[in-house]
Amino acid sequence: MSINGSLLQKYAELIVRTGANVRPGQTVQLTVAVEQHEFAALLTEECYRAGAKKVNVDWTSDDQSRLNFQYADEQVLAAVLPWEEAKLQQMVEDLPVRIFIESEDPDAMKSINPRKLSSVMQSRATVAKPYRNAIEGRHQWVIAAHPSVRWAKKCFPEDEDAAAVDKLWDAILRTVRVHEGGDAVAAWKKHTDFMEEKAAWLNAQRFSSLRYRSANGTDFTVDLIPEAKWEGAGSVNSSNGVFYIPNMPTEEIFTSPAAGKCGGTLVAVKPLSWNSQLIEDFSITFENGRAVSCRAAKGQALLEQMIAMDEGACMLGEVALVPKESPVNACGFLFYSTLFDENACCHCALGMGFKEVLPGGEDLTMEQAQERGINDSIIHVDFMIGADDLSIDGIRPDGSAVPVFRNGTWA
Ligand code: ZN
Repeated sequence: MSINGSLLQKYAELIVRTGANVRPGQTVQLTVAVEQHEFAALLTEECYRAGAKKVNVDWTSDDQSRLNFQYADEQVLAAVLPWEEAKLQQMVEDLPVRIFIESEDPDAMKSINPRKLSSVMQSRATVAKPYRNAIEGRHQWVIAAHPSVRWAKKCFPEDEDAAAVDKLWDAILRTVRVHEGGDAVAAWKKHTDFMEEKAAWLNAQRFSSLRYRSANGTDFTVDLIPEAKWEGAGSVNSSNGVFYIPNMPTEEIFTSPAAGKCGGTLVAVKPLSWNSQLIEDFSITFENGRAVSCRAAKGQALLEQMIAMDEGACMLGEVALVPKESPVNACGFLFYSTLFDENACCHCALGMGFKEVLPGGEDLTMEQAQERGINDSIIHVDFMIGADDLSIDGIRPDGSAVPVFRNGTWA
């Protein structure tokens, strides 16, 4: 299949209207790669049609980012300049709708020293954190994807450039339910209704913990925070009550578990791409809620470094349920992008949890959320544990078990 104008238009409308749900009078902050300037123009026009007051664009470039890391000093890159902080402060005041179009080459930073990358990321994220916390839950945002040649070639190395891009387009549009002649908006309504029904069921169960088992060695129990909610598909911007869908695609129902309260081993079923590098065939063992050991056939040092990024990096911030029938899984290849790969099957994330899963969570400071069991960290890294035979039981406070997942899908 080759992408055509009408499909592109449909996709842009879906991102702006269903995903970000831009409302009249809102400012939009669009982050997109320079190569995708045509799609950026489509999105910009669609935002204005939806009534946006102003659309601002942050242009990105893989080459530019790589060259900065190659030539500039670590301290220079790590410094967040006053104008950058002023921009972050402006965001806290404007609460713009943020649209991120992902097209990054998974290998963009491959030649860069991972220590330099993570140390710069760590410093910058620490400065940005209070601003991020201040807008968390209080603005609409969506991440969607657009193929780039290098990303497509990473997924389909055997193909010519154009054929690889076509294949990646085909897969992206399939996962976001955009088809020729199809009604993507109606398909998303049905999809989000199903996910909300599952989330409502989980919330009604009030499980105190989840128990994971698989023949691959996964044997793991994690405590849940009694009042924390399961969420799926969409979120509500607490500053204006607007419903939006932060990830397109999205197949997960997720919550933040009780930080520091889990034990056992989780075995990954897919490679993890972190800082442009792959961690493969790995498992992580937890004791008293903390990752105490990990094993990786490839990327052992990287995995250890990730878990040691800060105090909260060794604890879980998310558990997510995704049935193996997910269209992302059906694509059958690794996208080298969390946006897609985390929607292939069940996963957990090390690092920062979501305070919005707590009742009134948007208004809590991260410290208050931490007191109520939510993990905090500068990282949030998802890793896939959804084996085809995965079973998950929900454990009630009286110890009784309720099947939640059997053979990798809803029981
Ligand atoms: Zn997730």
